[in-house]
Amino acid sequence: MSEDKFDAIVVGGGIAGTVAAYLLAKEGLEVILVERGNYAGSKNMTGGRIYSHSLEKIMPDFAREAPVERRITREKISLMTDESNVTLDFYSSKLGVQGSDSYSILRGVFDQWLAEKAEEAGVQIIPGIRVDDLIIREGKVCGVVAGEDELEANITILADGVNSLLAQKLGFRGELAAHHVAVGAKEIIELPPQVIEDRFNCNGNEGTAWLFAGYPSDGRVGGGFLYTNKSSISLGVVTTLSDVIKGNKTVPQMLEDFKHHPAVQPLIKDGKMIEYSGHLVPEAGLAMIPKIVGNGVLVVGDAAGFCINLGYMVRGMDFAVASAECAAKAVLKAKEAQDFSEGYLHCYQGLLEQSFVMQDLKRYKDFPHFLEETPRIFNEYPKMADDLLTDMFVVKGEPAQPLRKTLMQHVSKIGVLNIAKDGWKGVRSL
Ligand SMILES: Cc1cc2nc3c(=O)[nH]c(=O)nc-3n(C[C@H](O)[C@H](O)[C@H](O)COP(=O)(O)OP(=O)(O)OC[C@H]3O[C@@H](n4cnc5c(N)ncnc54)[C@H](O)[C@@H]3O)c2cc1C
Repeated sequence: MSEDKFDAIVVGGGIAGTVAAYLLAKEGLEVILVERGNYAGSKNMTGGRIYSHSLEKIMPDFAREAPVERRITREKISLMTDESNVTLDFYSSKLGVQGSDSYSILRGVFDQWLAEKAEEAGVQIIPGIRVDDLIIREGKVCGVVAGEDELEANITILADGVNSLLAQKLGFRGELAAHHVAVGAKEIIELPPQVIEDRFNCNGNEGTAWLFAGYPSDGRVGGGFLYTNKSSISLGVVTTLSDVIKGNKTVPQMLEDFKHHPAVQPLIKDGKMIEYSGHLVPEAGLAMIPKIVGNGVLVVGDAAGFCINLGYMVRGMDFAVASAECAAKAVLKAKEAQDFSEGYLHCYQGLLEQSFVMQDLKRYKDFPHFLEETPRIFNEYPKMADDLLTDMFVVKGEPAQPLRKTLMQHVSKIGVLNIAKDGWKGVRSL
């Protein structure tokens, strides 16, 4: 191999790119990873919590060593209006069982740790350089143009995130559709660990994941999220881009109002904002997956649209890890066969089909459309829950009416048939 030709070039040092690079270097391949941020994690954002299963397969027991924040053992889901919050609170130690556990993380530190692992395995990481273009000869991707440099490799892995301009340049996808992506804004709010444990009823290193529908996204498709870290809270909102423009509130304003909601404000009281970030989330699932295999090139992670948001859980990072693993396996096979053609690399698609990545994306393929078609979830249902519970719990000293009548009064505002239809469509899409 010539000095300036690598086995693999990975574009993007997020979770997908770093895991792909790590796995290839571990098998002895010469791998270079180019990241436009000044260090791994500097440009990356998540809610967030990582479901451990896919990384656990690659790095058993990683959570003992990695800078994870808290093991999530409490799940909360809320329907929120401007003055109320109705919450389902699920605590179970089963949520923390190794292999099916999940952890709140902060990408700034987590991605750096992952990058160190990749470097230890032999990956050459070049931070602070953006890949501007791909070198294409006779229909084959032969490398990248990064700043002044041209780097060549047998395979280029695009792990450049949701807005993969390189996949777009290759013609693998068009412009992102506004109803396929959501805009997220997040604050990290510092608080002493003991305060977090008291406010969220957490034991030691255990933590809470909390998703909200309704008020946080101004009644639009999306919601709010809150994750407890060791000594901070990740608090944010996410709203589908096509829906943001229908309303009057900007996403930063939604976050500001969410922070000041009477049910949220006491949770972050006296906290200090230490980081603010914004990012797109690929949310259309199967409908937005671009072409992911070409001659000398594979696409992984968010760049391939591998992410799902089910309202009660968001999963992108475990998909990023698993797709990186499938890509690495495909590259190792291709290297053995010395065939980096699209036809041969198509085994990547096969590996994804066998894994949960494609199977889950297929299972939930109708869910994004269901959310889009059912705006009631984000406005009328939170209002109904608020009105119903207000009537149940507020005592005015007037003669009480039967609960059945109160229930029907509120249900009839939306309509029994509409509720049944929404329920049926929702269940079918899951
Ligand atoms: C608000 C929000 C909440 C979320 N919550 C969760 C959650 O709770 N759980 C979960 O599992 N997932 C969540 N996700 C999704 C998850 O964060 C993503 O799926 C995951 O980060 C994807 O990783 P990635 O490596 O594919 O992409 P990224 O982390 O976006 O990495 C892409 C990298 O490529 C680099 N790059 C881009 N272009 C170039 C270029 N031309 N040259 C060099 N480098 C380049 C970028 O700087 C970046 O480092 C959330 C996302 C958002 C935005």
